[in-house]
Amino acid sequence: MKQYLLSLIALLACVVLFSSCEEDIEKRQVTFTATMPADDLSSSRLGSIINGVPSPDGFNLDAQWKSGDKIHIFVRQGDKVYQLESPAVISSISSDGKTCSFMVTLPKSVNRDKDYDIIGVTGVEAQIDGENVVALCNLKREGSERFNEILPMWFTAKKGSTQAKFRHLCAYEVLSVNNVSDASITFKHSGFQVLSRWYIYSASILLSDGSIAGEQDVKNDAESDEITIPAGGTGTIVSRYIPITIIADVTIDNAKLKAVVNGNAATTIDAMISYKTQARGNAYYMEVNWDGSNLYFSNEYCPDTNHPHIIDLGLPSGTKWACCNLGANIPTECGDYFAWGETTTKPYFAKYNYKWYHSGDDHNITKYCCNSSFGTVDNRTELEPEDDAAFVNWGPEWRTPALRQLYELKNNCTYKWANVNGMGGYLFKSNTNGRAVFLPAAGWPYNGVQEVGSEGFYWSRGYDYDVRPDLGFILGFGGKNALNGYYYSRYNGASVRPVYVGQE
Ligand SMILES: [Zn+2]
Repeated sequence: MKQYLLSLIALLACVVLFSSCEEDIEKRQVTFTATMPADDLSSSRLGSIINGVPSPDGFNLDAQWKSGDKIHIFVRQGDKVYQLESPAVISSISSDGKTCSFMVTLPKSVNRDKDYDIIGVTGVEAQIDGENVVALCNLKREGSERFNEILPMWFTAKKGSTQAKFRHLCAYEVLSVNNVSDASITFKHSGFQVLSRWYIYSASILLSDGSIAGEQDVKNDAESDEITIPAGGTGTIVSRYIPITIIADVTIDNAKLKAVVNGNAATTIDAMISYKTQARGNAYYMEVNWDGSNLYFSNEYCPDTNHPHIIDLGLPSGTKWACCNLGANIPTECGDYFAWGETTTKPYFAKYNYKWYHSGDDHNITKYCCNSSFGTVDNRTELEPEDDAAFVNWGPEWRTPALRQLYELKNNCTYKWANVNGMGGYLFKSNTNGRAVFLPAAGWPYNGVQEVGSEGFYWSRGYDYDVRPDLGFILGFGGKNALNGYYYSRYNGASVRPVYVGQE
């Protein structure tokens, strides 16, 4: 009887224990919906930051869930980190591969009444190191031959959340190199020289024939395999920047791109002027052009920060353009505004204070007039150097462009609306040598400055001398589709982008 009683007690205890265990497990389970980063190809402007990963030239870096993917799960509570014994297995993959679900069972030792974070890592192994979760970023995933199969991802979620928003663990850079010179080049890409906490990157190079060269992991300042890009050819380099392995947000600053051409360092470009800071979890798509002597980013054609530079776009007339506006320190700055034929800027632009109207009367023009009904005829057809803001402010090597030079720019370049470092404007890219100038939408001065970032007005040194001498000629754009030559009242303030005339 006693034995029976004991057995009964034992049995009851088991039932109680078992049911409480079962209940406990259910309470400890969290089902997550996992999402991949959005592949925002719509924002694949040159030099822009893309939250997904672009796939130019066949480099498919598209992040998708695949059946059998596993997620290493960690739970952090206070200064304690627990790793789940077996990784979570995904299920319910959506048809586009962007979402799936998985279940996490919290360890018993996690106090569910207190806050905790769940950390998940996929694509690479991960483990606990002290209080940190570290990813083992050797990136030699078994069976993987192509870089694009290795996309380590991670997420963190707070207690109560069922959303696992995965992000790239590394930073990616897709660099398209155009050889616009007339000679082939041997090119080594040594990647960004980065702070020591980004201790490794790996680079792959896709040649224009589709083959791949130089896929390897390399240390900070080492160089990847060299490739030869024929004259007029292109190559694509995909680099993966792996920060210190602790799972946390990290950015690269002080990044520099170093390219080695024919064994010599071609140039070092301060990447900070091309795009800001590289952050883990992002991909960056950039284009650089090799013109035989320098490398230029598509959105930043200046070799250094000593502006203004003389940009040779290979135009038929030989006209060379300044890289930035009169009064601007960098190509994306608005600079100063000038009335036509005035050489200093001023706070208000009106008829009454225009230099070449007598008493503010636009039918009483005192200089630059060929029509007697508008003022004193002097038969001057375009600005003389002493009335040319470019000449006066930058010196005799520079002039405000003639109208034909503005049209030459428009007609001999591929131009498109662009957003460069946050500034809207038109990027004029040479049809022959890969170089470019950017005309920011500097707006127009009235009650401050209007429409910065969406409209731009650039003076020529010419005016409508035979019909309406009160009108100057501009190259203007009011939005993205209206780039053209226009008449503009001479007393208005507008921008000046000088052209280089050398020592004439
Ligand atoms: Zn410049």
